[in-house]
Amino acid sequence: MSATIPYGRQSIDESDIAAVVRVLSSDWLTQGPAVPAFENALAARAQAACAVAVCNATSALHIACLAAGLGPGDTLWTTPNTFVASANCARYCGADVDFVDIDPDTFCVDAVALERKLIEAQHTGTLPKVVIPVAFAGRSADMRAIWRLADRFGFVVIEDASHAVGATYAGRPVGCGDYAHMTVFSFHPVKIVTTGEGGAVLTNDPRYDERLRSLRSHGITRDASKMEGDDEGPWFYEMQELGFNYRMTDLQAALGLSQLARLDAFLARRRALAARYARLLDGLPVSLPRYDALDDSAWHLYVVRLKHGATGLTHRETFEALRQAGIGVNLHYIPVHLQPYYRRLGFAPGQYPEAEQYYRDAISLPMYAGLSDEDQEIVARTLKAVLA
Ligand SMILES: *Cc1c(COP(=O)(O)O)cnc(C)c1O
Repeated sequence: MSATIPYGRQSIDESDIAAVVRVLSSDWLTQGPAVPAFENALAARAQAACAVAVCNATSALHIACLAAGLGPGDTLWTTPNTFVASANCARYCGADVDFVDIDPDTFCVDAVALERKLIEAQHTGTLPKVVIPVAFAGRSADMRAIWRLADRFGFVVIEDASHAVGATYAGRPVGCGDYAHMTVFSFHPVKIVTTGEGGAVLTNDPRYDERLRSLRSHGITRDASKMEGDDEGPWFYEMQELGFNYRMTDLQAALGLSQLARLDAFLARRRALAARYARLLDGLPVSLPRYDALDDSAWHLYVVRLKHGATGLTHRETFEALRQAGIGVNLHYIPVHLQPYYRRLGFAPGQYPEAEQYYRDAISLPMYAGLSDEDQEIVARTLKAVLA
């Protein structure tokens, strides 16, 4: 049997390798020129005023929440159909988490359910301070509706666009800030472009930008104009708040810059693969992702949903048969509220039925820029055989 076809993987070429090697023999492995160069390229690409690069998207979410003022006594709302980090960032700040169920069409947070829950929360005085919609699989939630709700109910919108680097929404790049105060990207190797580990926060608000830069690096400033006391000399710095070391290295940023130059090629390949899957899987007893997302989505994931009763196999049996046949399928995501940590906080099965139903029938098929036509055909053929 040939090697397993993974569900996702990085695409690294000679230009990426050369970019990292150049940094290795330069003066700066970290805090050098590659980080601001990467930040400028990211901001330009997303048409945002500012980008702050950090060591991963989890730390990006953490400092974005702190910049939004989230703290003990506050609540953050997000979707249960996400990676745990989109909720955990609230807990790092000492805040509470609550969830809003997904739209079964897009698998993103349901803006209608969000509005309903906000109206209730207004009556009980439990409105959230922050809402984190997740651009699931590479496609934004109904951000226009969420932005109107943010205005009406007064919360900060942090879009978790970890899946959506290079995606567009309403004709503009995700990250441009039309419908979010801050946008978070991930550069983990399975995502659209990689820095090994890495993340960023994009914003158009210089106050958020300043706060994010401070929190990323120990809460320290070397800018004399911002000091509380007198500048005591060329060595001097002030630590003005409790920050972290969430910095990205120059090695990572150089890789990121090189990968950004390849982003359009990556997106074109992912979109072509999505269109091919739609053809290859036509007629199988699975529902396919919405085709109208083709040009908007960054296609981080290609998720199909099994139609129950259409084959003799259960979801788990189908999944196991595919893995056994060398197809590295995956499941995104186990509903976050069902994780033992969140159950201990009081969440229980049945609370978010759409996300729970989705979890019972979703399968992520291999999707990455380096997936060959031949391997994709093997995936489709194997799925067909398993479902027959
Ligand atoms: C990958 C991912 C994260 C975390 O990203 P890291 O860079 O690994 O910290 C957060 N949210 C979502 C939706 C993700 O997919």
